Amino acid sequence: MADTAEILQELDSIENELKAVGLQISDLQERQKELNASKDRLQKKLKQCTKDAGPSKKLDLQSFTKQDFPWSKKVQKALGMFKLSAFRPLQLETINITMSGRDVFLIMPTGGGKSLCYQLPAGCSEGFTLVIAPLISLMEDQLMSLEKLGISAATINASSSKEHVKSVQNAMLDKTSDMKLLYVTPEKIAKSKMFMSKLEKAYHAGRLTRIAVDEVHCCSQWGHDFRPDYKVLGILKRQFPSVPLIGLTATATNSVLKDCEEILCLKDTITLSASFNRPNLYYEVRLKPSSTEDFTEDIVKLINKRYKDQSGIIYCFSQKDSEYVSVNLQKMGIKAKPYHANMEATEKSSVHKEWTENKLQVVVATVAFGMGIDKPNVRFVIHHTMSKSMENYYQESGRAGRDDRNADCILYCGFVDIFKVSSMVVMENVGQQKLYQMVSYCQDATRCRRVLIAKHFDEVWDTKHCNKMCDQCRHNPSSESVDVADHCRDLLQILQQAQQMDEKLTPLKTIDSWMGKGAAKHRVLCVPPSSLPRLEMEMVIAHLLVQQYLRQDFSFTPYATISYIKLGPKADLLKNEKHKIMMQMKKFTSVDPVKSSMDSKTQSAHASTQGGGGGGGEQEKMMYCH
Ligand code: ADP
Ligand code: MG
Ligand code: ZN
Repeated sequence: MADTAEILQELDSIENELKAVGLQISDLQERQKELNASKDRLQKKLKQCTKDAGPSKKLDLQSFTKQDFPWSKKVQKALGMFKLSAFRPLQLETINITMSGRDVFLIMPTGGGKSLCYQLPAGCSEGFTLVIAPLISLMEDQLMSLEKLGISAATINASSSKEHVKSVQNAMLDKTSDMKLLYVTPEKIAKSKMFMSKLEKAYHAGRLTRIAVDEVHCCSQWGHDFRPDYKVLGILKRQFPSVPLIGLTATATNSVLKDCEEILCLKDTITLSASFNRPNLYYEVRLKPSSTEDFTEDIVKLINKRYKDQSGIIYCFSQKDSEYVSVNLQKMGIKAKPYHANMEATEKSSVHKEWTENKLQVVVATVAFGMGIDKPNVRFVIHHTMSKSMENYYQESGRAGRDDRNADCILYCGFVDIFKVSSMVVMENVGQQKLYQMVSYCQDATRCRRVLIAKHFDEVWDTKHCNKMCDQCRHNPSSESVDVADHCRDLLQILQQAQQMDEKLTPLKTIDSWMGKGAAKHRVLCVPPSSLPRLEMEMVIAHLLVQQYLRQDFSFTPYATISYIKLGPKADLLKNEKHKIMMQMKKFTSVDPVKSSMDSKTQSAHASTQGGGGGGGEQEKMMYCH
């Protein structure tokens, strides 16, 4: 009987371990699911590449490169109309598929030339092509360039006059009209019965030749840019089943595409994807210096030396940042101006224009500076703050080097930024998950950036094709795999105690207590101040967040969303003393000038002396108190 307590205790510990094992199993199952899905996708892709879309239908992609279709002559001639001499990869295939009346999705990097794939067919077909695009500014850019080429196109939107709407509606039905493209936002389809009824008439009159859905990933809420109005676009295929649809996007994983296909009520869609690799872009991730002065100096140096007289974009987190950074650059004599959503439309277009005409060297922008940018000679895109997802990063950085000449994409990664961006995406469905993928990209110590990007987009990629066009391939950093579990146990005790006391720890406070600083009540007696350099502490925390040993918790004030750090779903695993958390730590060399992103005074040359110890051998094992 005396043993009951002991037995209970043992039972409890077994229960705990079982719980931990359960978590590990569900983790592995999750991973298994992911891997199986990736496997499926890749096998499908492989089949498509080897000219076989499936057992029932043969899709011979090669056959769509032929030049002897009934429309081939017209298509070749139309190329001249667009003042182009040759097609880029996949353009001809896509055009032939849509001309043959089939539905097609084209995934092609930004700047790859997707618009041509519906503009050119529109130009050489009877009737008109309905183009759905998300932004009015985007349509206006296209209308302008079509006008220059002498191709008749129109748009109706909220600011169109009654007369204009009337004349466009007439053109939709008029067999003698030369209107080739009609641009609308999805809202028009969703909200205007009048417009739908005109479309229906046009359909029955055989005037609605083709439907193009630009930025088609906006249909899916799993994509990075979900727009609710896109969800209704399934009505188009249901009402106009014989009209071929072409969907275009720069960024969509296969699962997003599948979702879009369902939403648009498509069946046998042919999907063509151009490679995500942009061989002329050099990718680099830098640690963000903590002090504004150091950071500004870093950027000024880049702009005045490496990018002297060359065009670029700096992407910032907020409107305030974009104003602030531009002022700082202006002070250093750099021609820079901000661009963000809160500026007057005329001011925005004047900044855009000055930059396009090379009168302005740098646009310091928020992501509001995005769609519709079509400047070929952008030599650098600097991210002052990481993007909110890999899709966003790819798209934003992809605005560099559209002329196929070399250009740089530099991303500054700062610990505090994780939480800033996190608070911004807190309302988004998979916001945290997407952000953590971005963090993981930044944190990777050794792998080729292209490999990481390709993996994200389900593309198979071989490091050796990078041609040293990323920081990791160029500098070949050495790293070592270290077990940081003991450090994590300390950290968890601090967080556990806070949780028990009903205290919430912000990332800064967490680090402070872990360093043995800050409020005494947040420290834990038997946890000695961490021996890790601050930068590595930050890296460990980021790693633990990504790996779900920790999680973020948010609280809303009228002015801000505050992020706190809490124990994550996997925290219990650390109760098992044998549990390891391996982390790839870059070995810093002593020339690395970067300081921690949060605290420059306490740490300066930091990591260099530690040689990336990251909790390795020289560190004494810490006590784990029960
Ligand atoms: P996307 O929509 O894929 O981002 P766009 O359709 O806006 O890209 O095209 C980007 C740029 O590429 C445009 O300036 C366009 O004129 C140019 N372009 C498209 N196709 C070709 C081609 N075959 N040859 C040369 N330039 C092209
Ligand atoms: Mg486009
Ligand atoms: Zn590389």
